[in-house]
Amino acid sequence: MAVDASTANVRGNYVASSQPGCHIAHHDAEWIIEATDFDLEDYGLEPGDEEGVPDMIVDPDTRSLSVINTGYDTDKSFFITTKHAAFDGQRRPMAAGPTRNSEGQEDLVTTLVLIVKPRGVIEACYLDVTEGQGCGEEAIDLFSDIKNVKQHPNPAAWESSRTYPFPLGGNAPFLCSQGVGGSFTHFFPGTHHALDFECPEGTPILSLASGTVKEVRQSETAGGVHARGLFHWNSVTVLQEDGLLAEYVHILAGSALVNPGDRVEAGQPLCLSGGAGFCPTPHLHLQLQEGEGDTAPTVQFAMLDCEGNSYFPVAGKWYGPQGEVTPPPSIVQPQGALGRVGAVQGEHSEHHDVGDGKGSGFVEECAEGCAQRPQRETCPLPRASR
Ligand SMILES: [Zn+2]
Repeated sequence: MAVDASTANVRGNYVASSQPGCHIAHHDAEWIIEATDFDLEDYGLEPGDEEGVPDMIVDPDTRSLSVINTGYDTDKSFFITTKHAAFDGQRRPMAAGPTRNSEGQEDLVTTLVLIVKPRGVIEACYLDVTEGQGCGEEAIDLFSDIKNVKQHPNPAAWESSRTYPFPLGGNAPFLCSQGVGGSFTHFFPGTHHALDFECPEGTPILSLASGTVKEVRQSETAGGVHARGLFHWNSVTVLQEDGLLAEYVHILAGSALVNPGDRVEAGQPLCLSGGAGFCPTPHLHLQLQEGEGDTAPTVQFAMLDCEGNSYFPVAGKWYGPQGEVTPPPSIVQPQGALGRVGAVQGEHSEHHDVGDGKGSGFVEECAEGCAQRPQRETCPLPRASR
C-alpha cells in the first residue's frame, strides 16, 4: 500500500492531501529511515574537511538517500524530486504525485521536502535504482534545490491596516491548503506569511487593494509536484498604495487581465488562477512583502469578512468572501483529514527555529486568532458546492 504525506511527522498548517506525492520531514518524521547527528568519522574525514562532504548521498549498497547539513548554525532545506520509485523507512512504497512539463507531458514523481538541523543528517528513503545503472549521481534521477533556512526577522509584527477582502471570485468556498509558517513551503522569510487557497484553474483572482501593476509573468505552463517548478512560475505583482508588494502566484498561463504599469482598484480581477510552478494542486499562493524581490521578508495580513471583521485563514478550513464557512456538502473529508492538518508528533520547540524562531504563525497562534473571530454563518452570500 502506498504511503502518502499524511503520515509525515512534521509540524503543520498545511493540508497533506493537497500535496500528493510530497513527503515532508522537518528534522525528523515517522516515515524516514533515520535522523542522526553528522559525524565526520562516518565519512573518513578529519575536522575541517567538511567541504568534501556532499549535500546528498545515495548509499551504493542500500540505495538509501541521505541529506547532510555540515553547517553549525543554520537549518538547511532540501526540495528533492525523483522519478525513481521510493520506499520509506519501513520499506513501504511512497506515493508519487503528478507533474506536467512545458510540453504538456505528464509524469509521476516523488518529492521530498526535508529540513535538516545544523550538523544533522536525514537518511530519508530508499530509491529503486535499476541494477546496472550504477549508483553514481549521474545515473540517478535527482533534482534538488538546497537552501539555508534563515529566520524571518520579525514574524510576529502585525498592523491592523493590513486587512483585505477575499482575493478569489468564482464559486466559493475555497480550502486554505497552507497557512502562515506552513511546513510545506512557507518556512522561508520570503514566504512565511503566505496563504494558499485551493481553487479550480480559471478562478478569477481579485486585487487585494488599489495600486499599480508592477510585473506580470504568465508564460509558464509546467506545474505539479516537481521541484523544478520552484524556478519557473507565473505571477502578477501589484505595488499597493499602502506600500506593500502583493504577489499572486501560480496563475494560469496567458490569463493576465492587466499589464505592468496599469492602475488597479481593490477587488478588480487581475488574472485567473492556475497550477503553474511548484504547485501540487491548483491554488493561489498569495503573499505581501515590504521590500521588493523574491527574498524580501513577508508581512502578516488578514482577510476581511462580509461583516467587516478581520480573520487569519488557517490550513484545513474553508473560506469565501463571507469569511470562514463550513465545508461544502459535496466535499467528503478524508478520515482524519483535519487531524492531519498541523499534525505534529515531534517536539514543538525543536521546530521553532524553522522560519521564525518563535513558532508564531503556526497552528497554535492561528488557532488563537480563530478563537477571537466571530461566527459568520449568517452571511447571505450564496455558496456553491464543487
Ligand atoms: Zn504557498
